[in-house]
Amino acid sequence: MEKLLQYGINTELASLAINVGLNLTSIRGTSKKNLIAVYGLDKYQATILKECVTRNPINEADVQRLLERNSATCCVCKGIKSDAYIIHHIEHYNISQNNDYDNLALLCPNDHELAHREGEALANKLTPKQIKQFKRNWENYVENVKIRQATLTGNIHDLDFVNVPRILELAIQIKKVIPSTRFTQQLLQSGKILDDGTINPQLYIDHNLNPNTPLKFFALFGSTTLIQHYYEMLLDIFSAVNVNNLEDLLKVSEVRKGILGKFCYYVGGVYGKQYRGVVSEESDYTSIHIRKKPFIVEWAVNPMYITSATAGWRIARRPIYAVYGKILNIEQVIENEKEYIRIEIRPYAFGLAIEKKDKTPLIHYLKYDWDKYQADEDL
Ligand SMILES: [Zn+2]
Ligand SMILES: [Zn+2]
Repeated sequence: MEKLLQYGINTELASLAINVGLNLTSIRGTSKKNLIAVYGLDKYQATILKECVTRNPINEADVQRLLERNSATCCVCKGIKSDAYIIHHIEHYNISQNNDYDNLALLCPNDHELAHREGEALANKLTPKQIKQFKRNWENYVENVKIRQATLTGNIHDLDFVNVPRILELAIQIKKVIPSTRFTQQLLQSGKILDDGTINPQLYIDHNLNPNTPLKFFALFGSTTLIQHYYEMLLDIFSAVNVNNLEDLLKVSEVRKGILGKFCYYVGGVYGKQYRGVVSEESDYTSIHIRKKPFIVEWAVNPMYITSATAGWRIARRPIYAVYGKILNIEQVIENEKEYIRIEIRPYAFGLAIEKKDKTPLIHYLKYDWDKYQADEDL
C-alpha cells in the first residue's frame, strides 16, 4: 500500500488495485487494456495507475513522515470529506517533478480535485499557497495534540525531578486522599513508603545515605519504582484537573485574563544550572527557565528531589524536558532597562520528552556547547 502511495496513487485506488491482486511490478508489466479487461478496473483508474507508476517515487521516509505529521488525514478538511487520501505535489508533479517534503501535502480525493482545478474562480479551487498554509497549520496542530497526549499519559523517559512532598500535598488538595498506583502495594510491603504516602525515613538509615536526596540513594533497591510511583500519582491528579499547554498561556492577553494557579505543562528546551555539592537541608533551590519575549518563565527546583547525579548534570545541558507545574506568581521585572513579565511556576516533575516539536534537535544536550547557549540566552 505505502509502496503505491510513494507514486502519488490515492489510498482508495491503491487498495482497490491490491484487492484485485495488483502490485507495483504487475501494474508496470500490464497494459492499460489488460488492467481493464483482466483486472476489471475502469478506464480512468487504469490511466491513473499507468501514469503514476512512471513517476520517480517519493522517498519512503518522507511518506512516513507526511503520514505521521498529518495523522494520515487530509490537511484541508481534516478528514471530514473522506478518510481516503493522496500525496499531492503542491507544485504539480508534471511541472516540478519535485518530491521534496516541502512540496508534498496530504489531501482527500475531494480536496485533491480542487487542488488540480484550473482556471476556475478562486473560491472553487485550492491554490498552492493555501495548501501550504493548511499543511503548516495542520501539522502544527497534530504535533501539539501528540505532545499533549504523550505528556499527560506519561510517555516520557528519564524522570530527572519528582517533587514528592508537593505531589502529596496536591493529592490531598485535589483528590482528598493519596491515590494508589500500580506500585503502592509493593512499596508499602517492602517498607519504602509509609501509610501516609511519604517515603519511609528508615530507608536512609538502613542504607547509610544522605536523607536529603531521598530519590537518589537506592537505585539498586528500587528507587526507579519509587520515582515512577510518585510520577504516576501526579498524572492521576493531573487527569482530574484542567491542564494547559504553557505556550497557550504565554500571551499578554491570557496573562491579563489571569493565569495564576493554573496547571500547565511545557515541552521544549530549558536552561538550567548544574547542581553541585552535597544537598543538605539548607541547600538553596536551583532552577530551570525559558525566555520567550516578553516572558521569563522560571521553575524553582528543590535539589532534594532531583532523581540522580546524571539528572543534576543534564539540567545544565539544555535538555528537552516535559515539565509539569502550577503557576505560582507573576511579576513585572526590569532587566537591562527592559521590561519583562516573570512567571514563576512550581514544578511537580520533569523528565526527558519523547514527543516534542520537530524543529527541536533530538539530542541537543549531548553537544556540550554551553557557551553558545549562554550567548543565545543573553540576547
Ligand atoms: Zn479533504
Ligand atoms: Zn495532486
